[in-house]
Amino acid sequence: MNAAAPTTPRVLLRTLREVLAAQMGAQARLDRVSQLVAQSMVAEVCSIYVLRTDNLLELSATIGLNANAVHNTVLAVGEGLVGTVARNASPLNLVDAPSHPSFAYRPETGEDPFKSFLGVPILRGGRPRGVIVVQNQTMRQYGEEDMEALETVAMVLAEMLAATEFMEMRAAHGGGQRPDLPASFSGDILAPGAALGVAVLHEPRVRVSKLIAENIDKEIARLDEAVDTMREAIDAIIRVEDPSLAGAPLDVLETYRMFAHDKGWLRRLREAVESGLTAEAAVERVQNETRAKMLRQRDRYLRERYSDLDDLANRLLRHLTGAASATSKLPNNMVLIARHMGPADLLDYDRSRIVALVLETGTASSHVAIVARALDIPTVAGIDDIEDQVEPGDVIIVDAEQGEVHIRPQADITRAFSAKMELSSERRARFAAARNLPPETADGTRISLMMNAGLLFDLPHLEETAADGIGLFRTELQFMVAQQFPRLGAQATLYKQVLDTAAPRTVTFRTLDLGGDKILPYGQVADEENPAMGWRALRIALDRPALLRYQIRAMLLAAAGTDLRIMFPMVAEVEEFRQARDLVDRQIEWHLRHGHEMPRSLSVGCMLEVPSLAWQLDALMPLVDFLSVGTNDLVQFLFAADRMNPRVADRYDFLSPAVLSFLSQIAEKANIHGVPLTVCGEAAGRPLEALAMIGVGVRTLSMPAASIAPVKLMVRGLHLGELEPFVGQLLEGGEHSVRPALQDYAEKSGILL
Ligand code: PEP
Ligand code: MG
Repeated sequence: MNAAAPTTPRVLLRTLREVLAAQMGAQARLDRVSQLVAQSMVAEVCSIYVLRTDNLLELSATIGLNANAVHNTVLAVGEGLVGTVARNASPLNLVDAPSHPSFAYRPETGEDPFKSFLGVPILRGGRPRGVIVVQNQTMRQYGEEDMEALETVAMVLAEMLAATEFMEMRAAHGGGQRPDLPASFSGDILAPGAALGVAVLHEPRVRVSKLIAENIDKEIARLDEAVDTMREAIDAIIRVEDPSLAGAPLDVLETYRMFAHDKGWLRRLREAVESGLTAEAAVERVQNETRAKMLRQRDRYLRERYSDLDDLANRLLRHLTGAASATSKLPNNMVLIARHMGPADLLDYDRSRIVALVLETGTASSHVAIVARALDIPTVAGIDDIEDQVEPGDVIIVDAEQGEVHIRPQADITRAFSAKMELSSERRARFAAARNLPPETADGTRISLMMNAGLLFDLPHLEETAADGIGLFRTELQFMVAQQFPRLGAQATLYKQVLDTAAPRTVTFRTLDLGGDKILPYGQVADEENPAMGWRALRIALDRPALLRYQIRAMLLAAAGTDLRIMFPMVAEVEEFRQARDLVDRQIEWHLRHGHEMPRSLSVGCMLEVPSLAWQLDALMPLVDFLSVGTNDLVQFLFAADRMNPRVADRYDFLSPAVLSFLSQIAEKANIHGVPLTVCGEAAGRPLEALAMIGVGVRTLSMPAASIAPVKLMVRGLHLGELEPFVGQLLEGGEHSVRPALQDYAEKSGILL
């Protein structure tokens, strides 16, 4: 196979361009590429492995190995040298491959005589799509030039493999779907509901269609020009305080500027063009390498730096391709698709246009899920590669009752879905009928069902659901949707509107709970290893009391003549509560000094979401007017399982003896001290969880608006006299979960769940 003279990457690319342009089938194209590469690199073997939809690497073309092995030899990611290249998303250059510990011998391939090995991942969006390998019998040391040539070919292959004909090949053995055909996926439900709409990518891909340069000098000039324009744009943002960009903190922009002038990055871009790529393909290739590094990187700081570089590459691509910005021309019924999203990102969109949300990663207690529930946006998460599966404009059904997402649905699916929508409207009718029924158990105990809220558009739900009040008003949401810190007046106006709309029902305002995954677009982001356990909520408030003072002042002003309830988040010890309460007292003095009208009543409460506080309850109870358990945080700290990490967030069941015993003890203490107790975490809105909470003595629950009716219907079927002893005996056991037992109990007792 080793033909005449080795060709340079440029010549190789030129020949590849001909292959891309020629009319031929997918297999013929792959065969031709491996042949060209083998020739130009003077390799005895060139093989292309394609990652199938079932995540196995299939030998799909080869020059030099046994032709019979093609479409028969299959490796798992991580298996053998090829699998290692794919897993690490980085090349492997070996003089003596068989002596490498990962070498996996496959007799059917006939690769025994080959010693040297150069494998390069075929990456798209930083993720492996396949591997291309060259091998030689001699112990050859492949040079930089070889590596570069193969990486460039890999990039062309990545584009080829994204084409429809190749997707068919990928799916043929892997059992997947062609990209233009319907496809269905299962995921986790983050916010219930169902909708049909049109796909919009949160971070739209910039499509690079022209890969191979016709004139390298021209491409270098285009690259230089785009880099200059991009630098000027960044400088301009820093120089002029453009109000529309007020969100970007200066240090982030400075980091951008630093990278935009980074010599190493610019050199790599230039080198990629010099190897024969167009300017945009060069940016994409370097971006792919950065993404691969980003995915491998464990250090948060470095990962973020890589992600800055990634963002910069996107900007550069937009300059080069003239692609539209992310927010232009959004449809009215959009299903938003994102790999990952923070709550502020979601709030940036016009709510009235979003009908559903699909995320690659996200957990039910993450704040983006909380915001999605508050906005009543059906949300499904945990679908791998969703951004790659969907084309903007595709029709999508999001069934967040079943946790299913149907892309490009066929008529029968759409029909079945419409029937289901009708069913769920039946369910809605049942819930609507429950509106006027009291949340009273069958044996006559009134349970108080409150609603969680945080923005003005939550308020109409109070009337719709007939909730008893707002048990948790997340004040930070106003800060997260604003372009800049809401001033005293703006805060007071919102609080007053909330109080006026809710009256005569009560509202419990929680003071700012920023930090963790709740980040302000305009604030400084503290770089913390572990933000959920970091500088957040009351910790920030006590260290920087001006913010809390302002907020309390705004609440006092808003609540003139009416009832005001304030509670503090993330209290870890009694002393913190004492300091916060002191601050309230000082604001009351200020308020009186300035002759303002006082609230009719003031209650100051404490959230219990840090377990340490549970061991200080006797000291705490006399100081508080009420206690509210935030189970979202509490449970993540009790189990040491990050609520944001999908791998562990659901590892432990809320309905476990540990959590229920904990709640039972809190309820008992609250009862002894005569302190009103509420549970306001998301679990309070799930009927079975709510049943268990009532079973251990909780009588007030605060939940997303959509949960009020289902929880109410559940409550009305309860017999406390039976439920309490039943739940009590479950606390003694050592099971992972008491869910099955509770489900069984509910079913036998005819309780609606
Ligand atoms: C909680 O932690 O349960 C809670 C209600 O607060 P948040 O979810 O806003 O952190
Ligand atoms: Mg919390």
